Parts: sequence; C-alpha cells; structure tokens
Amino acid sequence: MPEVFNWQLGRKMNYPYAERHPRWQFAFVFNINRCIACQTCTMACKSTWTFSKGQEYMWWNNVETKPYGGYPRSWDVKTLGLLDEAHRKAGRNASWDAGQRASDRPYGTYEGMTIFEAARSGERREEVALGYEPSDEEWRAPNFYEDTATGAQDDPAKLNMKPVSLPVHDTWFFYLQRLCNHCTYPACLSACPRGAIYKRPEDGIVLIDQGRCRGYRKCVAQCPYKKPMFRAATRVSEKCIACYPRVEGKDPVTAGEPMETRCMAACVGKIRLQGLARIGEDGTWAEDRYNPLYYLIKVEKVALPLYPQFGTEPNGYYIPPRWVPRPYLRQMFGPGVDEAIEKYSFPSRELLAVLQLFRASQTIMFRYEIIEGEKIFERTVNGKRWAMYNDTVVGFSKSGKEVARVTVEEPKYVRPAKHYNSI
Ligand code: SF4
Ligand code: SF4
Repeated sequence: MPEVFNWQLGRKMNYPYAERHPRWQFAFVFNINRCIACQTCTMACKSTWTFSKGQEYMWWNNVETKPYGGYPRSWDVKTLGLLDEAHRKAGRNASWDAGQRASDRPYGTYEGMTIFEAARSGERREEVALGYEPSDEEWRAPNFYEDTATGAQDDPAKLNMKPVSLPVHDTWFFYLQRLCNHCTYPACLSACPRGAIYKRPEDGIVLIDQGRCRGYRKCVAQCPYKKPMFRAATRVSEKCIACYPRVEGKDPVTAGEPMETRCMAACVGKIRLQGLARIGEDGTWAEDRYNPLYYLIKVEKVALPLYPQFGTEPNGYYIPPRWVPRPYLRQMFGPGVDEAIEKYSFPSRELLAVLQLFRASQTIMFRYEIIEGEKIFERTVNGKRWAMYNDTVVGFSKSGKEVARVTVEEPKYVRPAKHYNSI
C-alpha cells in the first residue's frame, strides 16, 4: 500500500492510492460554542438536495446532541470501538506524542493505527478501511436524545442538580454539526470497488458518480463519519456535494465569485465559516497568512479536525466547546484541545476580529484585513489582563472585491423619536 503524508497525524500513513492533491481544498470551521441547534442548516440542505423519493431518511447536514445519540446512532462510538479492538488485538496503543509539535505536525504525532492501517492489521483484510454498515433503525433520527445532558451518566440523579460553572460543567451536552468532510484521503473513495467516487482537482470536493455506482454500499460502511447514504429508490449511494455549483460561482447572486454552501449561508447562530484553502506542491496547505481559514486552523490553531485519528484528514474543523470535560474532547479533536480552548477563552486582538467574519457574507472570503480601532474594554480574567479593541475586519472575495466589513463592537442604532411606539 502506498504511503501518504497526513499533516493532522504528523506522519506518513498507508493509503490505497498514491499522493495526488487538488489545487484548492473545500474546508470549513464550525464554532461549537455558538450553535443553538435551530437546525436551519439542516433544513436548508434538506430543502435543496434531499427532498425526493427514497431520500426521506437522508440528512447530508445534521446537528446532533453529544455525547449521546448521533446520526446514524452511535456512529462514532462504534467506529472508535472497532479501532480500540484492533489496537488491543495488535497489542498497540492509540496514543499521541504531543511533545513532537512542529509547523508540519501542529498536534504532534499520532502513534496509533488509522482506520486504513487497522484494516490491514486484522483478519478482514478484504476491506481497505475499518468500518460497519449501520442498520435501518440506526438511521431513524438525525438528533436522537436531543438536548439531553447525559454527561453525568455515572449518577443520573445528579443531572441538572448542581450549579453550573466554567471551566467544565458536571452535567453537560453540546451540539455537533456534521456534513461530509471532503477528506484529503477519503475512506469512501478508497472503499469503492467501482471507482465511482472521485475528488475534484479544482476544489477537493468528493463526489459519487451516480452512473458508475452500483449500490454496493462499501462507502457507507467504510466512511468513518457515515456520510454516504444509500437511496433505495435508485439503488445507488449519494452524499453531500458541497453545493458545488455555488462554490464554482454559478449562482447569480455572487456574480461569478465562489459562494458558500446552503448550510453555511443559512446559519442563524453565525457559527459557520467556509472557504477554499490553497494546496501546495507537497499536498499540505500552502502558506496563506491572511486567509481566514488558514489563520484559524494553522496560525491560531483554535479550530481542530474531527477525529483526526481516523486518518482521512477531514477538512471540517471545530472550535471545541469550553464547558465539556477535556478527555472527551481530546478523544474527539486530538491533543490540540487545551491550546484551542485557551486561545478561544482569551482571544487575541486578531482572533476576536477574525471571529466577526463568521456569516458576514455568502461570498467565500479568501483574504482579510484589520483596521485598528480604539480600546473599549479592559479587565482581569482569571488573573490575566485582557483588553478589547473596536477593530474593523474587512473580508475580500477571490477577485479581491470587498464583501464584508464588520466591527468588533456591534454598532448601536437609536430609533428616532418620531418612530417611538410606532409598532
Ligand atoms: S467524510 Fe466520509 S463521505 Fe465524506 S469524503 Fe470523508 S470518507 Fe468520504
Ligand atoms: S443553523 Fe447554525 S446555529 Fe442553527 S443548528 Fe445549524 S449550525 Fe447550529
């Protein structure tokens, strides 16, 4: 099996295909701390792409309550269980060496096996990646156990009985927003015996060729995020297409400029920012200091990949929730969690400005600039001096046109006296 470099793992890993990379990569950052689970994103996707016969159970975008539930039910617990079992049988540990951090390995080095390597270590070697196919029952609810704080499972009597305070709550839950990660090393693509799945060279979007697919469902079984779905009415599999006509700039609203997907643009909580990352000759992200995604992921390291240990190098990144116990978060987002939460809790002047770009425009922003403003607030937080400045952040489209201008402090509008009590 060829070896490819996975920067999220800080090492080379086995993958069925040799390195080949797109010029740009579709990617996104979700700020979990702000999501209100309104499901507007979910419905924006549903009403655009999955409203037809045989798609009733499909939610290409879903927002699920963690730690319980998931869609399909327990998708991550089951895959983590398979990976644990593979490590136990091989007498290995799924640990990270976070001491070896460097610019090309920002989270250190993962020393365990990925889903590709674990599949080669076991008895079921006909599979390229470790996985399972969910039952019909497991696909039934996109947000099973909604809003249920199951974090204090050791003693259910404790639920909601304790006063809640940061940094970590005793009883907790959070919302996890999910769609296909358009992975750098997609397990769905490598699993397909028909070669029906491909990654586009122009933007890294992963698609299923509906004409080649024969509905073997290998992608459903081997995608660790469970994002390909089988459509009984057509007997083929489907998945998120990253609203590619919008990303291509085909929507008239943005006049030819790349545009964010429906689920991103609809986000009420302003938790989503989507973009395109420039990929260098070596397949890793080319330095692009003032691209908002590059800054959040590579410079500030405040947004982290979902289950990087699976090995697909997912291109969805999350700002972890501050109130959730750290061991749970480290399992989900890797060893960068503590640094990311620290950075988010005491944001730098630049980070606070860039966070204002979330949902400031439907046009994809490729660059930002900050215009400095005056100091508006200062105080000591947890023994540290912290100041806030009313900076202005300006976002630019691919062609360099200004598409967003936002200040850190929300402007106040005072209703003129003649309009008082006018409603
Ligand atoms: S999340 Fe799953 S379906 Fe999407 S590209 Fe990765 S492996 Fe394929
Ligand atoms: S629209 Fe935004 S805030 Fe609402 S559920 Fe989706 S991600 Fe969360």
